[in-house]
Amino acid sequence: MTIIDGKKISAEVKAELKEEVDALLAEGGKAPHLAAVLIGDNGASETYVASKIRSCEQIGFKSSLIRRDSNVSEAEVLEIIAELNNDEDVDGFIVQLPLPDHINVDKVIEAIDPKKDVDGFHPINIGRMAKGLPAYISATPYGILELLKRYEIETSGKHCVVVGRSQIVGLPMSILMQRNDYPGNCTVTLTHSRTQNIKAVIQSADIVIAALGRPEFITGEMIKEGAVVIDVGLTRVVDESKKKGYALKGDVKFDEVAPKASYITPVPGGVGLMTVAALMHNTLKAARKEIYA
Ligand code: NAP
Repeated sequence: MTIIDGKKISAEVKAELKEEVDALLAEGGKAPHLAAVLIGDNGASETYVASKIRSCEQIGFKSSLIRRDSNVSEAEVLEIIAELNNDEDVDGFIVQLPLPDHINVDKVIEAIDPKKDVDGFHPINIGRMAKGLPAYISATPYGILELLKRYEIETSGKHCVVVGRSQIVGLPMSILMQRNDYPGNCTVTLTHSRTQNIKAVIQSADIVIAALGRPEFITGEMIKEGAVVIDVGLTRVVDESKKKGYALKGDVKFDEVAPKASYITPVPGGVGLMTVAALMHNTLKAARKEIYA
């Protein structure tokens, strides 16, 4: 069994990106600029955005943070997006999710210029990805593809079971794993809360990608011997023994599943760190106008 080291791979990806940025600057180009919009004071969102800004600093990107209270109006958020769309210095930007209930998330995502949508959430980017056209691929699925690639994990002809059909993880992941490419060429089953006999479905998987947000849902008995297990789940669970008062739990019961798996991602130290690295990669692509002219 191999533990997939997201920390090591994300550091490698970031070091490669830094080299590319250094070369860009040496040629007289400008530093790629990522902006983040953060609404409210959700602790997890604060942590994610701080980590994205830290990564920008490490790689040599410029970053901007636009913060508003949770009572900001939808109209003001849309105005901020319009300004970022028109700001020539900003190559790409993200609006950190989740948003407060009074703000329509689809309206916000659709307001983002697809050319600057480095989170890959805009319907145009999702549609282009589904058609196999150049597109920003949402960061978490993109990071998972990179892990599969760097560990040279065989995917062709395998049965891949994705658990969870969210717009940002499960759905794009299922599309990517079935495409005629590497990683890909899987026979994909996309499961969700209404899937019947989910245990048997997961037991038949060669590759399991768990993104449901239910800590330790996937147990050892659900996993076929030798399966590849990718754990996207990241849930804060109260743990008084920790300094922060909580522990981060994945969707996979690691101790039971790891001995049966051929490859497995830990939580933390797996997919989460790759998500940030993938966002940085998308931002460099935006600065270079690799996806859209
Ligand atoms: P989400 O929007 O909450 O969607 C959860 C999905 O799981 C839904 O499709 C839901 O089905 C399905 N589901 C829930 N309970 C289930 C069950 N008992 N059996 C089968 N399917 C079930 O989730 P998300 O935003 O994709 O996030 C999923 C997890 O990944 C969370 O823990 C989140 O924190 C984590 N995450 C991590 C990263 C990272 O960088 N590591 C990035 C994004 C998300 P229905 O559609 O039927 O409701």
